[in-house]
Amino acid sequence: MTRARMPRPHEVAAAQRDPRLLRAVSERQQDDAWRTRGACQSVDPETFFPAPNEPADSAVALCRTCDVQGSCLAWALEVGDCHGVWGGTTPRERRAMLVAWRGQVERDPDAADEPGPPVRDRLLTLVPSRR
Ligand code: SF4
Repeated sequence: MTRARMPRPHEVAAAQRDPRLLRAVSERQQDDAWRTRGACQSVDPETFFPAPNEPADSAVALCRTCDVQGSCLAWALEVGDCHGVWGGTTPRERRAMLVAWRGQVERDPDAADEPGPPVRDRLLTLVPSRR
């Protein structure tokens, strides 16, 4: 197994300007109610977990039509290290976004005052929703 390299500064700078990240920051939710509105609710979950050598295009395209894309990406960034396509991003894209996200959340006092459910609990509740 190869370890993912740390994102480079120019990649983090690009992630900070990425509209998907900006939407995630503004649509971050303290609960998981957004999950019931995902466009992926009736789609085969395997679509969102392509093998490393397979394209993620169809999943990303569906995410672009999803009303809760921002909340979904925010969730994935809070989890920090999850596989698959979330909020229209691939795991590779999220590596740089994660660095930018942590900088944003640390500057947001509301995020520190009202943390969401523990990561493990959120994983357990979210994954079955893709059935
Ligand atoms: S943005 Fe999230 S909830 Fe919406 S379709 Fe994509 S993975 Fe599903």
